[in-house]
Amino acid sequence: MCRRHLLQFLSAVLLSYASSRYRTTATANEMQSNTSRIVVIGAGLAGLAAARELHHQGYEVVVIEARDRLGGRIWTSTQWPDMPLDLGASWIHGVQDNPLTALADEIQAHRLTTRYERATTYNTDGQPLSHAQHDRLDRHRTRVFHALMQAQEQDDDVSIRQAIAPLLHGLDRSSEPYRWINFILSSEIEQEYSGSTAELSAHWYDQLQNFEGGDVLFPQGFSAITEFLARDLRIEFGQPVQAIEWGRSPLRVVTSRSEFIADRVVVTLPLGVLKAQAVQFSPALPPPKQEAIAKLGMGVLNKCYLRFPSVFWPEDVDWLEYIPARHGEWTEWVSFKHVADQPILLGFNAADRGKAIEAWSDAQIVASAMETLKTIFGDGIPQPIEAQITRWASDPFSLGSYSYNAVGSTPKMRQALAAPLGQALFFAGEASHGKFFATAHGAYLSGLRAARQILVI
Ligand SMILES: Cc1cc2nc3c(=O)[nH]c(=O)nc-3n(C[C@H](O)[C@H](O)[C@H](O)COP(=O)(O)OP(=O)(O)OC[C@H]3O[C@@H](n4cnc5c(N)ncnc54)[C@H](O)[C@@H]3O)c2cc1C
Repeated sequence: MCRRHLLQFLSAVLLSYASSRYRTTATANEMQSNTSRIVVIGAGLAGLAAARELHHQGYEVVVIEARDRLGGRIWTSTQWPDMPLDLGASWIHGVQDNPLTALADEIQAHRLTTRYERATTYNTDGQPLSHAQHDRLDRHRTRVFHALMQAQEQDDDVSIRQAIAPLLHGLDRSSEPYRWINFILSSEIEQEYSGSTAELSAHWYDQLQNFEGGDVLFPQGFSAITEFLARDLRIEFGQPVQAIEWGRSPLRVVTSRSEFIADRVVVTLPLGVLKAQAVQFSPALPPPKQEAIAKLGMGVLNKCYLRFPSVFWPEDVDWLEYIPARHGEWTEWVSFKHVADQPILLGFNAADRGKAIEAWSDAQIVASAMETLKTIFGDGIPQPIEAQITRWASDPFSLGSYSYNAVGSTPKMRQALAAPLGQALFFAGEASHGKFFATAHGAYLSGLRAARQILVI
């Protein structure tokens, strides 16, 4: 469909207030008989999905992005030219019927499978767990998840920590059950959901649903998907949105450098950014949306890639797990040897620990990681040649890694977050997806949802 170019760029710097008002008004009158002008805020998966769908349907769409790069929490680093590394999402979790699988097929993106079964678990002293120890760990796991199931049957919600507190009661912090239960909380709950077990809701923490099938990652980087989605789209980079005036027609979106008018705006700001009130909505968002923003949690998962001169860990594993003396310290590692034939280890830190180390220097983080690796593999292991380290909680355009269900929140709050405001303001982003929040596919599907809401107007 041939449509006029409807979106107007008004330079706040060049135009006087009076003349820009005039121009905005004149433009609005002029455009009355034309198709809606769409502004999409955010060039992450949600924004790109919405923009692409609307663009394909013939709408004039502009995507406004704060950063000078595409993808948001999909971010493939090319710092090591021979090995692209994903600093945000790595995996398509559950490949079967996953819409990202279809996209990856379309662009014939190479994918590699990692398996949780290809894992070795090391005890605090660095020794691999024996069969008997694995059995004991399984028994602790059963007790933890049984306590959580019981908590889900209670009327009042509590945090996961509170729900499992009886299991830790009276235990010495250095005792095996204390360390092992904390390992389960860290590796299976905090690393997965990104929230602290002191904040995660025992009622709702596991509401996230999965697609069937294995997990695959992209050896050339997840950004292949966002680059594909962004083809042919108009994207304004380096334009942090400061205000959205949605009580007027047309709407006005003010960035640090300019302003845009639109008939409909799709907001895909991360929950962390909404919580920080970094963007002013005028009028203010209605109470149910404000409540959802305040009560849903935004968690942290940080990555530390270490590149070594050679491999010194078992070559046939994908995952290395460590039961630390202190909660959450380097419990999960991915080896890139088996999957990509590279002497690279990726260590994760989630939740409180993930947030705390953001204040450390890279050298401190690497030293801490090496302390753990030396405990497991001995003092003779080589130093890493290079490292790449993320700090998602401090990143002003994400302020966290992904959302979780905190105590005090309910699944309905995600519907409130997703609900459009009239026919003007639409919402997408991982946190607004009821079933697949916290994931790349959830973000993508939320963008398609927002596009469909506009298409049926
Ligand atoms: C470390 C990490 C690992 C992860 N691992 C996985 C995984 O393996 N598999 C998986 O499925 N999911 C994973 N996720 C989650 C997944 O990456 C996200 O759910 C998804 O990418 C979010 O997409 P989005 O479009 O909702 O948000 P974003 O990608 O954050 O997009 C929002 C966009 O808005 C922009 N923005 C912010 N503020 C402003 C502003 N004021 N003005 C204009 N633009 C603004 C941002 O720059 C960003 O581009 C991971 C996330 C992280 C951080």
